[in-house]
Amino acid sequence: MESKIRIVPINVIESAFLDRLGLCLEERYLATVRVERALAVPRSTLNATRGQLFLSTLFARTLRGYPQGEGTLLAITTFDLYKTSHRFIYGDADEQQGIAAVSLHRLYPEFYGAEPDANLLFQRTLTECVHELGHAFGLKHCFNPKCSMYYSNSIFEVDSKTPHYCEVCDRRISRTRQ
Ligand SMILES: [Zn+2]
Ligand SMILES: [Zn+2]
Repeated sequence: MESKIRIVPINVIESAFLDRLGLCLEERYLATVRVERALAVPRSTLNATRGQLFLSTLFARTLRGYPQGEGTLLAITTFDLYKTSHRFIYGDADEQQGIAAVSLHRLYPEFYGAEPDANLLFQRTLTECVHELGHAFGLKHCFNPKCSMYYSNSIFEVDSKTPHYCEVCDRRISRTRQ
């Protein structure tokens, strides 16, 4: 099956970063990846008390802004994301609607008081994108801590996994994407 992944930058995300991400995802999924025009999401959209963006709001706005049925949407934002049951999330996906989102907010080394590190930020982002796209393509969480489908709730867990699926998840995803 020919598939398409459409990266949607929320506000301003460095284009070289997105292009690099697109190339890696193209290789991973043998899909066409396109970086779409940015979607403007003003700060006034954030939950004022939490200073965070509600996941459902992001999904709704993204789905409204881009015609569906043309591939899987992957929104990338620097806003901190949350959903009802979680204080924060690195990202999430909805298989039925064909949409995934990843927040860079807690992937920046600076967030933890460390020096900026572009490669580390990229690795973390790729790992989380592969995780959320995995959900969008029907994968569930995996118990292998190296697999990108491992559930991570801390940056240590993000860093200990890889931007790859384990053998089991890999087999599963090639079955669902045939
Ligand atoms: Zn997950
Ligand atoms: Zn796995």
